Amino acid sequence: MLPTTTHTYSAEETIEFGQRLAAQLKPPLIILLRGDLGAGKTTLVKGIAEGFAAGSADDVTSPTFTLVHQYRGPRAALFHIDLYRVDTERELETLGLDDLIGPDSILLIEWGEKFARFARERNVEIVLERIDENERRIQVTGL
Ligand code: ADP
Ligand code: MG
Repeated sequence: MLPTTTHTYSAEETIEFGQRLAAQLKPPLIILLRGDLGAGKTTLVKGIAEGFAAGSADDVTSPTFTLVHQYRGPRAALFHIDLYRVDTERELETLGLDDLIGPDSILLIEWGEKFARFARERNVEIVLERIDENERRIQVTGL
């Protein structure tokens, strides 16, 4: 069992943590990634994608403008979603996220807490906090 709270001291350590975390994640799952800009949400997804053999750290880039990126692995389809630029329920609807939820899907959502539907549902939540330039506190709940 992974500890609920972890500290990492470099982006590489956060990627390694994501790789190990992936072993604990069983689809279907919605994971909310919470934390300020630069906290390390996208960096953590790099590790999770590697853990699922769905993509390399370099493959995973922020879906800031495209909103949804997909990475396909042998035991899961990962959807990395960034709702930072999505402001209304109506815009959220047009993304069709419900259609992505299938038996082998894992949705990794940045800024999902902006919307009541994700805050309400019982999801896994990962909170990242910037302690200083290279230190991050990572808290996992709901696993
Ligand atoms: P977010 O998606 O939360 O906005 P990113 O993952 O895109 O954040 O960016 C995190 C930035 O912080 C990257 O530039 C990364 O190199 C840097 N960084 C420094 N230390 C860490 C750490 N321990 N964990 C994650 N990222 C770190
Ligand atoms: Mg990001």
